[in-house]
Amino acid sequence: MRPTTDTYRHQGLRKKLVDTLRAKGISDESVLQAIAEVPRHFFLDSAFDEIAYEDRAFPIGQGQTISHPYTVAYQTQLLGASRFDKVLEVGTGSAYQATVLAKMGALVYTIERQKALFDSNRGFLWLQEQPGIKYFYGDGFAGLPTYAPFDKILITAAAPSVPDRLIEQLRPGGWMVVPVGEGDVQQMKKITRLVQGGIAEEIFDSFSFVPMLSGKKAD
Ligand code: SAH
Repeated sequence: MRPTTDTYRHQGLRKKLVDTLRAKGISDESVLQAIAEVPRHFFLDSAFDEIAYEDRAFPIGQGQTISHPYTVAYQTQLLGASRFDKVLEVGTGSAYQATVLAKMGALVYTIERQKALFDSNRGFLWLQEQPGIKYFYGDGFAGLPTYAPFDKILITAAAPSVPDRLIEQLRPGGWMVVPVGEGDVQQMKKITRLVQGGIAEEIFDSFSFVPMLSGKKAD
């Protein structure tokens, strides 16, 4: 069962988490503010209530994990989501990352290939009250061409290579943040779709994500 009360204790733990993230190098105040506001323990089983604000990944079912808060903050900072940015997120998982982006004022289109995780978010009442998030059950490699172009795309699973079909769904001048690599470790990349055509690639730190898998999973 997911918890739905946000106590002063939780809020205090979140403040400490924000201090930890700041100490680790996250400097974008709008990202830190969103992390301070979104109750991460709502996105986890109540068994994790006491430890939800440690900088750790936790299981969310179906063999998947909610990313470390540092990873969420790092990707969100690189994405630089601004108010009213139209953002595609691949890998809804617990929907924590999507909620952080929505808190920053982005219009989030998030896609999950596992039906069980998708359904669990749709049944999560607290999330239904959060404006700015649209959920889709589908394969993130295909993206959401009907809703394209997006200002920004965030991939929260390890892509074997930069997914071409998603580049096409970026507006010219827009960018994608994606961990790329087939082994246990991936390089965080920022891929900009240039206005004059072509792409520019920047490489950042190494991370370890669950793999991005193709096709839909029905249970
Ligand atoms: N952003 C999530 C954590 C991501 S874990 C959060 O905030 O909790 C990676 C997620 O990507 C998992 O839920 C996994 O099922 C999903 N995923 C993997 N491959 C995918 C694909 N091709 N399309 C959509 N989602 C995918």
